Amino acid sequence: MFNENKKQETSEIGKAIVIKACRPLSAEDTVAENYGPVFTLRTVGQRQRSLQGRYLFTCSCKACQQDWPTLENLTTSFIKFRCPTKTCQSSFLYKEGMKEWKCNQCKNKADVRDLCRLYASYNKDFEEAVPLMEEGRLEEAASAMVKFIEEMLLLVRPPSKNVHLAQEALRTCWANEGNVFVLP
Ligand SMILES: [Zn+2]
Ligand SMILES: [Zn+2]
Repeated sequence: MFNENKKQETSEIGKAIVIKACRPLSAEDTVAENYGPVFTLRTVGQRQRSLQGRYLFTCSCKACQQDWPTLENLTTSFIKFRCPTKTCQSSFLYKEGMKEWKCNQCKNKADVRDLCRLYASYNKDFEEAVPLMEEGRLEEAASAMVKFIEEMLLLVRPPSKNVHLAQEALRTCWANEGNVFVLP
């Protein structure tokens, strides 16, 4: 049984459903399937109406609870950094010009400029991987996207513009693997 989530993590290949995670999963994580309305394209109101009408339930995934913006309204300047202390679950919203942040949970201080530098370098890796898609080098593109998603999600919490674009790119790469061409 898949749990409804606004970030689709499964794809169908021919008659088989193949599940490949496009984000790092831990053993107890739920594998999310999307029932149609994705947060990247539709607002929370549109998604809730559609799911209520068709499946008679109120969705309470993170995207709905936190009212994530659609991809069109999400920019790379929306950054929710994770607290750099490995054992700490805290995070904070980045504001321009921020230099330092003190975590109210673990009480450690983080150098925000260091986090921003890392964020910028990951985004550069992503920008460099995009042309691989256009050139049809899908295997290389897929491994670059996986690396980018894994690294970026250790640094920030979703929603994160380029992470979702990379997940979409990854789904395109993987869906292509499953296509079978029969010549007449
Ligand atoms: Zn939802
Ligand atoms: Zn902390």
